[in-house]
Amino acid sequence: KPILELEDVSWRYEDRSHPALNGIHLRVRRGEVVGVTGPSGAGKTTLLLALSGLIPSNYEGEFSGTRLAEGEIGIVFQDPETQFIGLTVEEEIAFPLENRGYRDEDIDRIIPRVLERVRLSGFERRSPFDLSGGEKQRVAIASALAVSPPILILDEPTSELDPLGAREVFALLQQLKLEREMTIIVSSHATEELAQFCDRMILLGNGAITVDAPAGEFFAMT
Ligand code: ADP
Ligand code: ADP
Repeated sequence: KPILELEDVSWRYEDRSHPALNGIHLRVRRGEVVGVTGPSGAGKTTLLLALSGLIPSNYEGEFSGTRLAEGEIGIVFQDPETQFIGLTVEEEIAFPLENRGYRDEDIDRIIPRVLERVRLSGFERRSPFDLSGGEKQRVAIASALAVSPPILILDEPTSELDPLGAREVFALLQQLKLEREMTIIVSSHATEELAQFCDRMILLGNGAITVDAPAGEFFAMT
């Protein structure tokens, strides 16, 4: 039984003549790490929004097909700064926990743990806005990890980063993969780096899946 599934999903943004997603069939198994790649405008962001359930609920447009998701989804966007609301890193991580009614003593226990997982121990009192791009992205990932979601979806988490920041984030994703606790779906233009730690690679073109293959076979098929 898949943990995430799109069955014949199509989507057209309201003011657009062409669909951004066109007849998508995608089943993701529990624990799988899936990379999504493709040229700009191919529909990567839109596919991740559909998997997250933000499409159709938060967008205007025409949706068809069905979506299934087992459990909560942590979402990390391209530009984390647009989502930051805390004055400090620890507030940033505490918010999703407070929203879900976690007790203070649990929050105090979870914060240093997730900061350690993203290698930002000691950053509790820093402003999330004053960090490097890679550190900001790792704070956003820590905030998503805090509630232990079974599914983590990241939309181009490295595209705004310099090479060092991108390496830090890919190294973290690699580590999360090795822990094998989460199902991870991540989009990126950095196809080679993506294929190095993903189990499975999906290539999108014009809103459709053109290749869906084990990472080791992907380059032979593209
Ligand atoms: P990327 O290729 O890195 O995913 P895009 O440039 O396609 O980024 O889109 C950046 C953001 O702008 C996305 O969040 C998307 O929802 C929004 N966007 C893209 N194209 C349009 C459009 N034609 N009208 C309104 N918003 C758009
Ligand atoms: P990618 O992430 O691969 O760059 P997107 O999913 O951002 O692709 O975009 C797919 C198509 O949908 C593009 O034609 C883009 O212009 C359009 N699009 C994306 N976001 C929006 C939006 N918010 N409103 C209208 N059109 C959009």
